[in-house]
Amino acid sequence: MLATLDQFERVPRVLRLDIAGHPVGWIHWSKAASLYSRELVRWTMGDTVLRLIGGISKATGKRIHLDIHTIISCRGKIVRSQRAEPSVTNAALFARDHHRCMYCGGRFADGALTRDHITPKSRGGTDRWQNIVAACRRCNHFKGNRLPHECAMELIAVPYVPNAAEHLALCNSGRILADQWDFLERRFGAHSRSRAEL
Ligand SMILES: [Zn+2]
Repeated sequence: MLATLDQFERVPRVLRLDIAGHPVGWIHWSKAASLYSRELVRWTMGDTVLRLIGGISKATGKRIHLDIHTIISCRGKIVRSQRAEPSVTNAALFARDHHRCMYCGGRFADGALTRDHITPKSRGGTDRWQNIVAACRRCNHFKGNRLPHECAMELIAVPYVPNAAEHLALCNSGRILADQWDFLERRFGAHSRSRAEL
C-alpha cells in the first residue's frame, strides 16, 4: 500500500552524526535519503524509520529499496566542539525543566510557561542557561523585577547548561525514538536531569 503524504510527514526525524560519531542534528527523512543516495552515509544504527521502494534492478532482477535508519553517520565536517553552549530556546528550556514551573513546581503545558531570568535582565542578568528557568505566568508575574530571595521564592532545582547531546534530545522532546534516546543519553553530562523525573 502506498503511504500518504500525511504519513510521510509523520516519519520521525533522523539523528545525524558526523563521521566520528558526534551527534550533529535532526534531519528530515528526505534529507537523509539524499545523503544515502550520494553515498555520504558511512554507517547506521537503530531501526528503520522508513523504507523507500524503487524500480527493478537490471543487475539482480529484484526491486530496489532504501532503508533509512534512525541514526546515520555521514562523511563531511567533523563537529569539533561539543562543549560550546547551545543557544536557549523555549522548547528546549521547558523540556530541561520537565515542563514544570521552577518556583511552584506545577506542571504546565508549554503555552502556559514563560522564561524567567533568575537575575532579571534589567539588573544585569544574562540570557544563559544558568540564569533562566521555566516559570508559570503567576510566579513570573509575582517575582517581577526581584531576585528570588527578595520575594521569599526558592528554585526547586538548580538550572544547568545541557551539553550538545542533551540539547539535541531536549529539542526533539516528545518525538524522539528509543534508540535515538539511548544513543544521546549515554552522552549527557553528569549534572543532567533529563534521565530522572523531577
Ligand atoms: Zn509557578
